[in-house]
Amino acid sequence: MERRTGFVWHERYMWHEGGRIAGIVPAGYPVEPGSPHESVATKRRIKNLLDASGFIDQLFQVKPREATRAELLRVHTPAYLDRLEALNREAEGLAGLDGFMTRGSYDIARLSAGGALAAVDAIYAGAVTNAYALIRPVGHHAEADQGMGFCLLSNAALAAAHAMAAHGAARVALVDIDVHHGNGAQRIFWNDPRVLTISLHQDAWFPADCGALDERGGPDAFGTNINVPLPAGCGWGAYETTFQTVVMPALERFRPDFVIVPCGFDAGAQDPLGRMILHGGAFAAMTEMLLAFCERTIGGRLLFTHEGGYNPYTVPFMALAVLETLSGRQSGVTDPLGEVFANMKGHALLPHQAQLIAEAAAMVADVPGGRG
Ligand SMILES: [Zn+2]
Repeated sequence: MERRTGFVWHERYMWHEGGRIAGIVPAGYPVEPGSPHESVATKRRIKNLLDASGFIDQLFQVKPREATRAELLRVHTPAYLDRLEALNREAEGLAGLDGFMTRGSYDIARLSAGGALAAVDAIYAGAVTNAYALIRPVGHHAEADQGMGFCLLSNAALAAAHAMAAHGAARVALVDIDVHHGNGAQRIFWNDPRVLTISLHQDAWFPADCGALDERGGPDAFGTNINVPLPAGCGWGAYETTFQTVVMPALERFRPDFVIVPCGFDAGAQDPLGRMILHGGAFAAMTEMLLAFCERTIGGRLLFTHEGGYNPYTVPFMALAVLETLSGRQSGVTDPLGEVFANMKGHALLPHQAQLIAEAAAMVADVPGGRG
């Protein structure tokens, strides 16, 4: 099928600031002020690479809008939205654990979530077949009643709720490939049998208190949450096996109408906040598997929402690999570290990785079956 890949971007996404953060720690004695890991650089350099290479012309612009309060209430509590509105007027605030914000951040967060919703609309309208939303603040740690880990609003969860409420999707699947646990969607859809949440992440990393194998969904939705808490040090072998034996079989059973990928690049090699060694080709291959499934079963409906990834010099090339795959077009750009990372030793599947993945694969049988 012909592919048209939507791309969401707004300059104001780059105007959100977390405040005086050094890495992930608020600055102040004994922490010398520095710059936060979650900064503008990584995202702006993705956009700049698209512009510099001309690849932006291969994508279809999807204009973001601000998500409405009614749309946010599908996922978040009124009290939390009130709190964000109050903090939005403060010089600096904290929406939850590491939920850093400054004056005006909530306005930008609504534009970020609204970017994901606009992408859902564009896909259902047939304007595009799939989309990548390069939105910020990021979202996958935000829960119904609190922000967390650089996230204020749960962008991907809001997109899932929008697909169901505004476009009649009966079932939505989220495949979170950020190196940190997708706790937001897991908790928001914990007891909702309409949403399959799968998260591949580094074991016991962030948040530290969730993401285990035995978290499988509430009493009305048992089997609709699959965590794959991979041991630190995984390469493509572990991720490929996880996709082949857990992610794709689970999607085949569940048969979603819409697929969302909270997409972090912090499982990439040399990321400061992850201990995995993926390369651009790995991100492209994961995208290709999801794309093939969506094109075969649901007309291609697939949305990537941007999440983590904190190395400004490697992430842009990994993101480009995803966008090339989604669109089926080539940029002509060579990833300067792609081969170096692909040839690292450590990509072969190791026994302790295989054991963990096999335990997750055994849970696929409990995923409730969809149509067909
Ligand atoms: Zn992350």
